[in-house]
Amino acid sequence: MHSVERSPEPDFFASLRATYTQWDELDDDARIRIRGALVRDFGTVCVYCEQACQSPTQSADPNDESVDHFRPRNRFPEQWLDWLNLVYACRRCNQAKGGSWPGFDDALVNQLLSGEDSRYTTVSEYVNPNVVAGQTPAGDFFAFDTATGAIFPSEQLDRMEWSIARRTIRDIDLNDSGLGENDARHLWNRRLYQYQLLIKRINQLDDFDAKVNIMRDFMLPDKPFSSFIAACIKGRFPLLGQVFG
Ligand SMILES: [Zn+2]
Repeated sequence: MHSVERSPEPDFFASLRATYTQWDELDDDARIRIRGALVRDFGTVCVYCEQACQSPTQSADPNDESVDHFRPRNRFPEQWLDWLNLVYACRRCNQAKGGSWPGFDDALVNQLLSGEDSRYTTVSEYVNPNVVAGQTPAGDFFAFDTATGAIFPSEQLDRMEWSIARRTIRDIDLNDSGLGENDARHLWNRRLYQYQLLIKRINQLDDFDAKVNIMRDFMLPDKPFSSFIAACIKGRFPLLGQVFG
């Protein structure tokens, strides 16, 4: 997951609020406009798993699930049209997350996770992908095993933040655990594939600056698995870490 700087709420949200009272009432035109506005902030990459969304904005289907309510509608009905509560997500993540939110009917999950790791403590939120002043950016909650592509909570976090990251990975299934690691659709494999693509591209170039530019391009937040690519580059080329910050 990476951090996304959000733009101000689009003007048309006020008229939507004046016309409709809940999400299910929105017509197709309204849904398409909302999705288009989100793409301007997020690109067409899922904010949670960072894979390219398979239903890009041109999709005629306004119900393609690329709009996710970060705080789900069933738990937070008053946030049905809160601009900052709407994020761009892929179908896989949207379905994995569903209507869950920490703190609701989750005694068993807490028990399970604290059984797996005694650091885990009860949490009441997921990692927020929006940049919020004074809060740890989403990207800093996570680290990667660059050999396998697996995501895990960063060791730099305090216990509460570590637990929030652990819970987010678990509930949104950011390692796609339901699929085997040899399955081509597995998120680990997709991260590794994107990195191989980058290596192939830079190996074809002789010019150092051109190589750096390609690396930079792969690390842009609107590119698939940019957080993983950044972790790999900083791990493999430590001196370049200073160039990329
Ligand atoms: Zn996703």
